[in-house]
Amino acid sequence: MSHFAFYENVTACEECDFINPIPPLKSGERFRCQHCGHVLISVHRQVAARIMAAGLSSLLMLALAMSFPFLGFSTNGIERTVTLFHTLSVLLSQGHLVLGSIISLALFVFPLVYLFSILFLVWSFQHKPILNFAQRYCVRWVVVIQPWLMVDVFLVGILVALVKMNSLADISFELSFWAFCGYVILLLKTESLVDKRWLWNKVAGKADDQSVVTGTAKEQGVIGCHFCGATLAAHKRHCNRCGHSVYSRRPKSLSSTAALLVASLLIYIPANVFPIMETTFLGNTEPSTIMGGVLLLWSLGSYPVALIILLASVVIPLAKVLSLSWLCWQCHFPSKRLTEQKIKLYRITEFVGRWSMIDVFVVAILTSMVQMGNFMSILPGTAVLSFTAMVVLTMLAAMTFDPRLLWDKDEARTVSVSERREE
Ligand SMILES: [Zn+2]
Ligand SMILES: [Zn+2]
Repeated sequence: MSHFAFYENVTACEECDFINPIPPLKSGERFRCQHCGHVLISVHRQVAARIMAAGLSSLLMLALAMSFPFLGFSTNGIERTVTLFHTLSVLLSQGHLVLGSIISLALFVFPLVYLFSILFLVWSFQHKPILNFAQRYCVRWVVVIQPWLMVDVFLVGILVALVKMNSLADISFELSFWAFCGYVILLLKTESLVDKRWLWNKVAGKADDQSVVTGTAKEQGVIGCHFCGATLAAHKRHCNRCGHSVYSRRPKSLSSTAALLVASLLIYIPANVFPIMETTFLGNTEPSTIMGGVLLLWSLGSYPVALIILLASVVIPLAKVLSLSWLCWQCHFPSKRLTEQKIKLYRITEFVGRWSMIDVFVVAILTSMVQMGNFMSILPGTAVLSFTAMVVLTMLAAMTFDPRLLWDKDEARTVSVSERREE
């Protein structure tokens, strides 16, 4: 297998700012930051062909998932099947615009823009090298949208909703449900093959090399572009290669993160006080809050589902706010604790954030499926909006937090760098 002399000579890690010389990489290899272990480059075998295959099959599966019945539902002699499209049209036609837009964005708009952009890119690499303007836009979309893809969370939401309904009705999985599972798996596969440094190298060529040795970019008087991995002279405001604005450390990172955290805590209050769902059964309407729903499931004996909702809607959002606040605090007043542990906490926080959306998806699925007038129907409550806002705000808070600030206060590293200089 041939070596790729494809990348520039050095790149700065976007998590710790450490300059890494890029060795010749073989296909199938992963290159990690030598300082913090963050994966900087993954070189996949036959990546273009595999992205093409996974992306196109994902689109095909989505088309199948839209064409046939999705779930069947029968109770007291009433039988219904719903399609995925029906799910959306019920939400929109009944005036649940917020929930309808969240579902459309999470299930269709973001994934479709993502898939079409990456497929266009891979196609243009092979056939049309001149469409550089469009290529640049597509790479940006691919990188920006990726954290907001939530089809896997939605799939878990479906399963939770089905357990919730299990005592009320018999549920059957129809053809489209399995196609939807295929769509989710293939979309995740496509995501796993995409590497932003690879994309930028293909679209805009190798970045100019700076004469840097070792240590952090800041110490060397250069800036690592966190968007494409290029290293730039410190006076630059925009990246030569990708055009993104660059900075040595994100300006006002801590204060923006703190502001977003305060806002998310404030909006978490109405999310818990107001009902997230209203259930009508035989003419009686009963509102239920997030905690009310958890307690009800617990009393009915559905312990695993009660725990999933408790974890997703209460524990994860609060733990996220707490850990990010602690990390901001640590940037201001560093402790003796190892930076590796803080970075691990940051990575976990960033990873679990979107799973909080499960309960919103559960409400959306129940609303669209359980519509039988006074006999039994489910409506979304006002808390859906504030809860979604809380999840989005905490995700933005994690994105505005600059993890390089944690390393800046790392005493061990400062010592090792000064030792290296003395040598
Ligand atoms: Zn690193
Ligand atoms: Zn760049």
